[in-house]
Amino acid sequence: MKKTIALVAHDNRKKDLLDWVEHNREKLKDHRFFATGTTGKLIATVLDDVSRLKSGPLGGDQQLGALIAEGRIDYLIFFWDPMTSQPHDVDVKALLRLSVLYNVPTASNRSTADFLITSALFADPDYKPIVKDYSVYLHRNTF
Ligand code: PGA
Repeated sequence: MKKTIALVAHDNRKKDLLDWVEHNREKLKDHRFFATGTTGKLIATVLDDVSRLKSGPLGGDQQLGALIAEGRIDYLIFFWDPMTSQPHDVDVKALLRLSVLYNVPTASNRSTADFLITSALFADPDYKPIVKDYSVYLHRNTF
């Protein structure tokens, strides 16, 4: 079954992500992808179905977060840079927060990405991550 996979890499990790995508092209080629701008440009040299969003620092991470909130992303592969602070650190944090909130399987390094795409659940049409019921938060304030 076709899955929707979000791909993002910070500048120092772009080569790592491109290597991983090239190495796994056969496993990935039948799925669809959303990527932040510069990452998407690189990935589109290897994979066909890549929708490019804005560059991360210009709002691309937030666009991905919105897609996660809408339930449109099945997996997030986000190779963030552990050695460099980013001008859009708050957006990075927000994206990672939403991936946890919506229980989106997320890989931040190559070994986890390998485990993710080789899992028996990876393309299982019946597998849907359970999303906790947060509806209580809608009603907790009494103004
Ligand atoms: P980029 O954005 O793919 O446009 O470089 C990634 C990021 O920095 O979040």
